[in-house]
This record gives sequence, C-alpha cells and structure tokens, in this order.
Amino acid sequence: MADIDCLTGNNPAPLVSGTLYLVATPIGNMEDITLRAIRTLRDCDLIAAEDTRRTGLLLKRLGLVKQQVSTHKFNEAKRSSEIVSRLKQGGTIALVSDAGTPGISDPGLRIVEAVLDADLRVESVPGACALIAALTISGLSTDEFHFCGFLPVKSGKRSSKLTDMLELPGTLVLYESPYRILKLLKELLELVPNRQLVLARELTKKFEQIHRGTAEEILGLYSNKKPKGEFVVLIGSVVALPADKPSGDVD
Ligand code: SAM
Repeated sequence: MADIDCLTGNNPAPLVSGTLYLVATPIGNMEDITLRAIRTLRDCDLIAAEDTRRTGLLLKRLGLVKQQVSTHKFNEAKRSSEIVSRLKQGGTIALVSDAGTPGISDPGLRIVEAVLDADLRVESVPGACALIAALTISGLSTDEFHFCGFLPVKSGKRSSKLTDMLELPGTLVLYESPYRILKLLKELLELVPNRQLVLARELTKKFEQIHRGTAEEILGLYSNKKPKGEFVVLIGSVVALPADKPSGDVD
C-alpha cells in the first residue's frame, strides 16, 4: 500500500486531543476502509476494540502495531470510565467493532454517552455499514426507512416486535442470523405474504447474493439448502391502494 500521507495530502489535520473517534471497518471486503480510518487507527493513542484479536488481524494487514483494549458489551460500562479518564488526560481513542460501524447492533452507545456526559468530543470516521449497503442496492424506497436491528429470540417478544414493526411506514431493515433466517421468512409469509422482500447475503464478500421476491419465493430458494453467512432482510412498504380497489387485494 502507498504511504497513507501521500494519499491524504501532505498536511492532513492531526487528531484532536481528548477525542473519541468512532471508526468504521470493513464488513467483508478488506478494501472497504477509508484513508481517514487508517490514519486515525495509525495516529490514535489507543484502540478500544470489540475483539482485539480480530482487530489485530486488520491492523496487521494495514501494517500497524498499536495498543488495544477490549471493549465489548460485557465490559462497556467499566471501560467507559477508563476511556473517559484517558480522554481527560488529552488522549485520542479509536473505537472499533468487529465489522462495520460501531454502535450499529454493536457496542458503542454506552461509551459515547459517557464521553458526552463528561463534555468530551466524539467524532465519526464513517464507512461500511451493512444496513446502508443493503438498503441502497435493494431497489426499495430509501425516502423513509426504519432500522429494526435484530429481532428478539424469545417468541413472545419476537412476535410483538415483528407485528409492531410491520405497521411502520417505509422500508424496514433487519439483521438476522443464518440460524433464524428461515424462521423469519416463515413469519413474514404468514404476516405479509404480498410484501416485496430483499435478502442481502454476504455483502461485499466473494459469495455475495441478493434475492428479491415475496417470502414464499425466497423460501423456495432455500428448500433444499441451509442458509449460511450474514444476512440483511429488507421489507418493502405496504403497497398504496389505488382509490377504486377493494382493500382485500393487497396485504
Ligand atoms: N456494526 C455492523 C454494521 O455496521 O452493519 C453490524 C454488526 S451486527 C453484530 C452483525 C450483523 O450485521 C450480521 O448478523 C448481519 O445481519 C449484518 N451484516 C454484517 N455484515 C454483513 C454482510 N457482509 N452481509 C450481510 N449482512 C451483514
């Protein structure tokens, strides 16, 4: 890789002391990292990483050797105060998750809250995010969309969240694990058989696939194979009824 300073210009703005940087990392394709993200990872005093081993692989690929501290959902509260005190001493910290944008179905929010509560600075170093990648290639409306994250696993909470969600206007975007994707498609077949769905699988990776159709059509594709990989599920908005059509024609 060319020297990063040649690519960013001779005088890129230095990191600001006492700032927490939320740095997006690739969601699959390792080229999906910005020059600013690389420079921030290179120049910060400390990297707070969801999984230091995984971030270690990224740093190795970028040719960087950095101090890391693990910052995951089980120690976010404790880490927040350590991060705040380090920032108060004038440090610069980059927060990264395993993939994509920190804070999006990933740890980050509690740390951002603690840093803001302490009147310190938070900056975004934006980049890859599976929900935005999936939404923008889905062909579904982007004028209004709702990101619903992962549905609860427990059936009572799951079905009430799903039912409430389906009432929302605009495109709905969900993350789902490969173990529950068929269950979700069956739930959608039951609740919204006519809505347009898009399944975005393994975005930016070698075996990326995008399936478009109704729940029944997409389920048909998995009739004799197990879903594997990472999935974003998008649900098209309720089709507006022409004034003269009876309401039974669409869901
Ligand atoms: N912070 C990440 C982001 O910015 O998208 C999301 C992290 S969340 C723990 C992981 C979920 O995001 C996966 O289960 C999947 O639903 C979705 N995801 C992440 N990478 C993906 C990819 N390459 N293709 C499809 N979905 C992906």
